Amino acid sequence: MLTKIHETIDELYPEMIEIRRYLHQYPEVSFEEFKTAQYIADFYEELGIPYEKNVGGNGVIATLKGGKPGKTVALRADFDALAIQDEKDVPYKSKNPGVMHACGHDGHTATLLVLAKVMKKYQDELEGTIVFLHQHAEEETPGGAISIVGSGKLDDVDAVFGNHLWATSTLGNIETRKGVFMAGTDRFEITILGQGGHGAYPHQTKDAIVIGAEVVSQLQNIISRRIDPLKTAVITVGKFHAGTTFNIIANKATLVGTVRYLDPEIQRVVKKEMEQVVKGICIANNADYELNYSEGYPPVMNHEEETDLVFEACNQIPEVKNAINVAPQMGGEDFAHYLNIKPGAFFFTGAKKEGHNYPHHHPMFDIDEKAMPIAAKMLIGAYFAYQEKNN
Ligand code: MN
Repeated sequence: MLTKIHETIDELYPEMIEIRRYLHQYPEVSFEEFKTAQYIADFYEELGIPYEKNVGGNGVIATLKGGKPGKTVALRADFDALAIQDEKDVPYKSKNPGVMHACGHDGHTATLLVLAKVMKKYQDELEGTIVFLHQHAEEETPGGAISIVGSGKLDDVDAVFGNHLWATSTLGNIETRKGVFMAGTDRFEITILGQGGHGAYPHQTKDAIVIGAEVVSQLQNIISRRIDPLKTAVITVGKFHAGTTFNIIANKATLVGTVRYLDPEIQRVVKKEMEQVVKGICIANNADYELNYSEGYPPVMNHEEETDLVFEACNQIPEVKNAINVAPQMGGEDFAHYLNIKPGAFFFTGAKKEGHNYPHHHPMFDIDEKAMPIAAKMLIGAYFAYQEKNN
């Protein structure tokens, strides 16, 4: 059956491209993907596959029950876009100003929809149940995954697999790893409360810029001097806002940034040390501060057996040239929430477009669409491998 499924996926490749390019032209940002959710629901309506809308927000879940008994496995695709202006010169360029599918979620959706259409044809012979899990709001915390988990709609699912088209990895590559695959992603905001004044009389002030600058550089010492060098974390101050003009000493400085970590123990260290650094520097400078630390997505922890199944699936797909056991990535994904409640694995499908070197979230971002049928074969391959192992 797998060979026939592969052939049907290849036959429907033009439709996959058509869907992806349509979605690419009409992107919607996280939590506002109403039309995209409706498009997905309409697709299942037409296929005659039962589905539910508004799952945990804009999520759509369709369920294809096979003619033969087996496990229930969810295959996930996210469908939100980003607040970026599309600067590509292509016929399928975004028609929504300032919004763009700059992470490939349009491709994830096209892949999963067409896979559903393919599998509908093989429903009678199919072992088990496929849950097509279309998730909204991956790009923005708290994200869609946690509310989909909270909806209870995945309670009967036995395992979950997910794909990300990866534009910086060569076509034909599949990348994943057991255990921690992607980082936890937290956000912090530090406000230094100094005392402003005349630029000529610094001794009468508490210069929030000087204090803030010290905080920026000391935060990096947490990484180099408070964390075991064989472990890791990232602290990035992405925004430093202070001051009004050249001869005024700033009252206040606001520093906003992200923390990335692979191990929850390291997250605890960073959190604790961050407070210590800010507090210490402010005491030394006789200033006050506010620190808001918010925990975002946890690390993506792939389950061992299910990761093996992803690697097994690679062997049955001739287009997969390299199955790569990669190092952990410092990027994050709210797929982590599914893996915290169900066995499963997340993987990258190489989607690099020849001669087009732009990373995810870039205004020129694009994918090689040939990666989509590979991703579809990988998802269904993992599904079959899971059934075979567990039935
Ligand atoms: Mn993404």
